[in-house]
Amino acid sequence: MPAAKDHLIVRRIIDLDRFALPVDVLFPGASLENPDAAMLSLADRHVDFATGEVLLAIQSHVFRFAGKTILIDTCVGEHKPRPLRAEWNERTGTRYLANLAAAGWAPEQIDIVMCTHLHADHVGWNTRLQSGRWVPTFSRARYAMSQREIDQRAHDAAQSATANHGSYQDSVLPIIEAGLVQLAGPGDVLADGASIVDLAGHGPGQIGLEVSFGARPPVLFCGDAIHSPLQVLKPDWSSKFCFDPAQAARTRRKLLERAAGEGLKLIPGHLRAEAMRIAEKSGNFQPVVEG
Ligand SMILES: [Zn+2]
Repeated sequence: MPAAKDHLIVRRIIDLDRFALPVDVLFPGASLENPDAAMLSLADRHVDFATGEVLLAIQSHVFRFAGKTILIDTCVGEHKPRPLRAEWNERTGTRYLANLAAAGWAPEQIDIVMCTHLHADHVGWNTRLQSGRWVPTFSRARYAMSQREIDQRAHDAAQSATANHGSYQDSVLPIIEAGLVQLAGPGDVLADGASIVDLAGHGPGQIGLEVSFGARPPVLFCGDAIHSPLQVLKPDWSSKFCFDPAQAARTRRKLLERAAGEGLKLIPGHLRAEAMRIAEKSGNFQPVVEG
């Protein structure tokens, strides 16, 4: 057994920040009109009330735990043709790998890459362009993905070359073909004390990672189960990009109840801060953003 540690040092590796989406585009039917004090407390960092936009970061989270260096979600990446979204299309000169190096890691030092789900903004740096071919960026890593996600994205890609912005073809398939995928489902252990949890809804097989250590409540990397602290205030706001919006809302509510009850530290994929705890008062949730 590794020695129990009483905290986990998690670094955010930025690929694109800020990434802004109009609230009613991200959350169909949602409105920022007549915000209450709790909503206004998210101003500037998480919500731009002047433009009506939700502010997100596209980033990886990386940490060392139980002898493994684990990197969660791989953002948009470079050189990927993404004609339907200008900010993601054929990007070059991002600071992503420099940001990773500044945090202390070379790509070859990553032991485990975990993709919470297989949307284009979570798989991009899985691969990079080398001599005209997509090769694994994290060449020594195993890439943890859920079978349900792979099946869905393979199905979508077979229907349309532009499904999921073409990300299955350039950012997932090369990893499968290189033999680097490690299938991961709820209950599986990625490292001693770090296990997979089911967060299906946003993606049909979305997974999270729960890291337990010492006597503290666990840290839970929860992908896009929560895009923004706005959804802590409005748990029924599922995103336009959710596979099953109703299931996504149920998953989120369950996660929020558990986080409030157990004091979990949540790390949503797109949070423009370090982490978030959840307070509950007479059935209403409040985000307590940290860092
Ligand atoms: Zn996302």
